[in-house]
Amino acid sequence: MNTSEPVDVRTLLADLVGINTVNPGGDERAGVEVLAAVFRARGLHAEIDEYRPGNVNLTVRVEFGAGPVVLLNSHIDVVPTGAGWTSPPFAPRIEHGRMYGRGTADAKGSLAAMAVALIALIDAPDGLSGTVVYTAVGDEEVGSTGARHLVTTLHADACIVGEPTDLRLFTAHKGSVRPVIEVRGIAAHAATPQNGANAIVGAAGVVTALGGLAQRLAETTHPLVGAPTLTTVLIEGGEAPNAVPEVTRLTVDRRLIPGEAGEEAVDEIAELLATWTADNPPFDARIVSRAPSTGGPSETPFDDPFIVAAQHAMTDAGEDPQLGGLVVNCDMTTFRSAGIPTLVLGPGTLDVMHGKDEYVELDQVDRAVSAYTSILRRLLSSAPALI
Ligand SMILES: [Zn+2]
Repeated sequence: MNTSEPVDVRTLLADLVGINTVNPGGDERAGVEVLAAVFRARGLHAEIDEYRPGNVNLTVRVEFGAGPVVLLNSHIDVVPTGAGWTSPPFAPRIEHGRMYGRGTADAKGSLAAMAVALIALIDAPDGLSGTVVYTAVGDEEVGSTGARHLVTTLHADACIVGEPTDLRLFTAHKGSVRPVIEVRGIAAHAATPQNGANAIVGAAGVVTALGGLAQRLAETTHPLVGAPTLTTVLIEGGEAPNAVPEVTRLTVDRRLIPGEAGEEAVDEIAELLATWTADNPPFDARIVSRAPSTGGPSETPFDDPFIVAAQHAMTDAGEDPQLGGLVVNCDMTTFRSAGIPTLVLGPGTLDVMHGKDEYVELDQVDRAVSAYTSILRRLLSSAPALI
């Protein structure tokens, strides 16, 4: 079928939210099929790649002639729903201009708006030159394997990642490392604690020392993402109700700002622990492993021609052209690692993205279509190469 029927972004979004693509366990393929159908109705080839069992990447390549290759990317998976929803999370509900449902903001609002923006270009291609690659990847929320798989074969000159930014241009995001610290003391009977060294007491001292480091970190700042942070997120310790514990483990979440290296941040914590250990015999505190983390920070320079063009396009669309940054991670880091200038832009607010009663302002979804369209038209219309 080849039709030029208009695609309603709100209907498309509701159709996407209606499919459970929870990671793990949801049906990513059924989710991307909804998007694929929209492009196939325009006579385009929509490729669905099940790059590993249960996870899929959708790729639609639209060529408008010679010129830059612009990648539109977001993810089809959503986080588990959790409890306490007012209405069923996969039955999208519209109230007071908002659509409620899991994934409305993170990130199906972006996927729907990007698809409709691209359809607008397909339906009115005059003056366009270049290629747009639309991708909906799997497994962003857990392992980012979809985006990582994608960049092994895909080249692009610029990339827009759709994540809820309240429709602001974000060109930087934080990363994280999560060292696991073991604090060792000396076991003893709880009735004679003076014969031991209580590892929980030791851990309390380590947490306080880490707090001092966190305060020093707060003195550094990045113009778009703010200061690096450090906080203890997990503690486990103790062996029995009648024993002075010998071992306690702490997991620390250290958020990195662009320019910081994870290895250096871990070394800094290791040095602090070495000093603390020297000052607090007979305790011993050291890093023993790393918990999984979101990956490194990244940014695209603010004077990159792609970013400058996107800012002009935002102004043309009546939107705020100011740059901002994300305090959480996203697939931008994968595209930046592949050398692709990348920005993050999408409808929805970060505040609601992983909680109950997730929603997106429908007006913002409509405006996202205009914003993406404006950026794509500017990038693909410019005779002298902007990117
Ligand atoms: Zn997301």
